[in-house]
Amino acid sequence: MTEDIRISMDARRRLNWPRRCSRCGATDGLVWLDVRAGRRGRPLHERVWDWKSPRDEHGSYRTNGEQSLPIPVPMCKAHARSNQLGGLLLCPDDGMRFMRLAVYFSFGWLAQFTIYAITSCPDPFAEFAARSSTELFTFAYAAIGAAALVWADCVAWIRPLQLDHQRESADLRFRNTAYAISFRRMNPTATWDAPASGLAPWLRPTPAKVLGLVLLAVIACSRAPGFAGP
Ligand SMILES: [Zn+2]
Repeated sequence: MTEDIRISMDARRRLNWPRRCSRCGATDGLVWLDVRAGRRGRPLHERVWDWKSPRDEHGSYRTNGEQSLPIPVPMCKAHARSNQLGGLLLCPDDGMRFMRLAVYFSFGWLAQFTIYAITSCPDPFAEFAARSSTELFTFAYAAIGAAALVWADCVAWIRPLQLDHQRESADLRFRNTAYAISFRRMNPTATWDAPASGLAPWLRPTPAKVLGLVLLAVIACSRAPGFAGP
């Protein structure tokens, strides 16, 4: 079960962390991992209007890119690298959102084709081999991408969800509930009690849940009358 905590980004409120790895509990050989919270880009309608006045009140050009702030988290060396890579794959910026969306769509296509090949073709492997290189590339992207996203969700034990627009607070997701409770107790004035996402833990979307829903939708469609494969 995951725990979402909103933390203050006010530099005067120094965050206190439990001195152990949130994944394995190791207390020796900890390193400071920067999970770095990024601010979400402004909505599209704001960006469209910005082209008329690209300079802000200080005379410098506005950027539509992400801004981020460091959040140092203690973690053992063995798990810091995978936590960082997993957090990168699940990071909430627009580019990675698009990549994940492409994985889910292509996974649906792969699932649809696989069901069709197994149920309707005498030789499913030959059916795969006969596909164009573009389709095979998409299928490979779907399979590798889906596996990578599920892996990322399993190894990112502390990851940022978002940085608010004023850069005053950030939301973090903890996979270790006991660790999150300790962290909250150690920072009573720098954390918010309410879950940051506002969703019950079992309702929070994860890659495995989204992929499962895509698979169920494809199976349901494949049972509909008139299904003839991709
Ligand atoms: Zn560890």
